[in-house]
Parts: sequence; C-alpha cells; structure tokens
Amino acid sequence: MLTVQEKPGRVALFVCKSYDSGQLDENVESAADHAGFPDIQGKRILVKPNLLKAAMPESAVTTHPEFVAAVLRFLWKRGASRISVGDSPGYQNALSAARAAGIYDAVIRSGAEWVDFLPGRQRPAPGAKLVKSFALASVLDECDLVVNLPKLKTHRLMNYTGAIKNLFGLVPGLGKSGMHLRFPDKVKFGTMLVDLGLSITNCFTFMDGIIAMEGEGPGDGHPYNLGLLLASSDTAALDWTAAQCIGYDPARISYLVDALARGGRDPAVPDIQVGPCRVSEVAAKDFALLPYGKSTSTAIAAIPAFARPLMARLVADRPIFHPDRCEGCSACLKICPAKALALCRNARGEFQIRIDDTACITCFCCHEICPAHAISIGRVFSRRAREKKLP
Ligand code: SF4
Ligand code: SF4
Repeated sequence: MLTVQEKPGRVALFVCKSYDSGQLDENVESAADHAGFPDIQGKRILVKPNLLKAAMPESAVTTHPEFVAAVLRFLWKRGASRISVGDSPGYQNALSAARAAGIYDAVIRSGAEWVDFLPGRQRPAPGAKLVKSFALASVLDECDLVVNLPKLKTHRLMNYTGAIKNLFGLVPGLGKSGMHLRFPDKVKFGTMLVDLGLSITNCFTFMDGIIAMEGEGPGDGHPYNLGLLLASSDTAALDWTAAQCIGYDPARISYLVDALARGGRDPAVPDIQVGPCRVSEVAAKDFALLPYGKSTSTAIAAIPAFARPLMARLVADRPIFHPDRCEGCSACLKICPAKALALCRNARGEFQIRIDDTACITCFCCHEICPAHAISIGRVFSRRAREKKLP
C-alpha cells in the first residue's frame, strides 16, 4: 500500500475547458505533478469513477469517459503494473451502467480491466467517530493505490458531492441504502462519509469539474461548463476547494468542516495551498446551488413534541412524484432504504408512486436515480392536494 499524503493541503487547480484528449493529457499530468502524485512504478491501481446510474456522458451525472481515459493513459505512462476500474451504483448492474456512460469502452480500450465491487469485505476505519469498520469492495485488498475520479456536482442531501462522497461508492450495492437507514440524520450521515473517506489513506483524487452539475444534483441537475480540473492526495482539502469553486461556503457544509478538522486544521483558517490558479480567478458566479438547510431531524427536534407531526410536514423537504413522467421502472422502489414506496396506476392509467410518509427518511435516493425526471423535492403539506388524486 502506498503512502500518498506527501503534500497535505496541496490542491492543484487547473483550467481545462474541454474533454479534448490533448488538453486533458497535458492538464492531468501537470495537475498530478503539482499535487505530488506518488511513484507508481510497478504498482496496482484501483480507479473509482462516479457511476451513479446509467446516463449519457453529456448529462454530467457520471465522470466523463474521456476524463477516465486520460487518467488511465497517465497511469500506464507512470508505470502502473495493473489497473482495475469499477464502481457500484445503488441498484443497477454496474457493467450496464458503465456501458451506458461510455466508461466501460474507455477502460477496455486502454487495456485496463473492469472489476465488480461484490463481494464486500470488512475493513477497519482508523480514527472513525461513528463507524469503526465498513464492508467495502474486496478488490481494495489487491491494490496499492486508489485513484478517485469524482464528478463535481451539487447534492440534494449533502449540498455538494466530490472526493469524499465518491468513495462511498466503495460500499457495494444496496449496502449504501443500509447506511442511509442507519443514519437518517444528515449530520450523522456526513460523519459516516468522513469516517469512510478518510479511512482510504492510499488515495489520490483527480476531479472532473470540466462539465459540472448544478441544480438538482447529483442525478437530476443540469450540466454547467465550469472548465476545471482539480487534483490532490488530500481529499478534505480538495473538496473544500471545489465547493468554493462553485460558490459554496464550505464552512457551512458540516461534513466538509468535519473532514478538514479531523486533519487537525482549523476550518476558519484552512491552510490549503491552491495553485497554479486561484479560486477567486476561476470560481463560477452563477452556478445554481442548493440551499444549505438544516439537518431535518435537528430542525424538527427543536419543535415542541405536540406540534412535531404537523411541523415536520412544513419544514421537511420531501419527494414529490409526477405520474405524467413516471415510466413505472420501479428503480425508486428498489433503492428506497425505508421501503416507503409502492407502484400502482391512477384513474388515468398513469404509473403512480404511493409513499408512506411516516416511513420515509428523506434520503432522496429515489430522486437521485429516477431516470425519467419524475421525482422532484419540495414541501408537501397535503399529498392529496399536490399530486393527482388516486383511484
Ligand atoms: S418515479 Fe422514476 S424511478 Fe420511480 S418508477 Fe417512476 S420512473 Fe421509475
Ligand atoms: S421515499 Fe425516497 S426519500 Fe423517502 S426514504 Fe425512500 S428513497 Fe429516501
């Protein structure tokens, strides 16, 4: 296993305007050198792109296949002896999703191998606050270095998703849903993410921020031409910087604060060396962000007990289902950790999702993976009034 925290706090921030292979090769190499990429001569590498679900590259849901291809070329050039690439979408077959996203072709063309993340194997998480060990993809045991390739996106539950959140994909399949059920509170869920992310110490990240996702990320937002590539061996510092590049104040995103503070740094004075570009030179001015919000359970806990059921309806954003767009694919039912959903038909013959609001933990996994844009998020006082009446 490689030790890669050679330059903690060092984040490479490069302008890269397109997925043109020449431009990518040059920027990947420069960013790696700037951020202190380790010597990988003869080493075994596991590459982890973001493969949330089967989606076309231009939708910005997944890491772009040209970005993956450029990093693979770089790794071969630096002397890797074996490169494995994989991810584990929440409910879909990983290979089918990788084919749809163009990533599988990029992997095979480069001479790397595609790997399955099943089965999982229990690994300790040293220094964890909440979860002392995780069942993670067993291929981790066969690699010297994890090369993390997140897509820069907004995230309905966590505000922002990048390097730390992408490593959550090392939990195979529906194990991720189990974590949502175990930690329905946003702050605790974030603590778990940091426990996991920082336990992968042999990790180097290249972030695809060339076409990022704004709005209703991570699965239903819009592509945004941000034109940035980031790299670092310090996942917490990279996420802090990337969040700033899209206009967030990372000090208001609890899991980013937690990640930075665990490295002994003061979020008020983060001590991150960003270069050669400065955040102020390249940060987006009009990126559509999601509101910071409070942890729902924290907000509801502050309300007197007698008023909680009513107030919970008013303060908590919840999924809203749109029968006119629903294709009846059942993906939301499969991924829902709380088993709160059922599929039926309404009087017009449309597919209609019924939800048990007393079971829903507002994790928004259903919203992330719906392929038909048939789920939005908002306040719902009365489902009967909001949605079309069911038979
Ligand atoms: S709401 Fe979306 S995910 Fe659920 S069944 Fe309809 S199309 Fe599929
Ligand atoms: S209905 Fe959607 S938001 Fe609610 S628990 Fe299920 S997946 Fe999560």
